[in-house]
Amino acid sequence: MVKAVGSQESIHIYSDPTFVQLSGGSMNKLHKPGDEVPASGVYRVTHNPQHEKAHKVTCIKGTAFPPCRDCEHPRFVLVYAAHHIANHKHFRTW
Ligand SMILES: [Zn+2]
Repeated sequence: MVKAVGSQESIHIYSDPTFVQLSGGSMNKLHKPGDEVPASGVYRVTHNPQHEKAHKVTCIKGTAFPPCRDCEHPRFVLVYAAHHIANHKHFRTW
């Protein structure tokens, strides 16, 4: 039997000791299009619910959160931070 992924997913990943700890309460901060991405990782995006439900995206630190093509107010919240592999000390080769 296949177990559906539900609302417990976020509880599971927050309790995962391997996730990257962030200082300053970054985990709950809302970001707008044009803001700089504070940490690479998975973000939950909320839109105007009339055109799209909340979903997840991967954003890269130092880039800007993009605008939505279809609504004025997408909002991004960090769910799970993880170093981009190009910036991880064990994989950096240059
Ligand atoms: Zn939208």
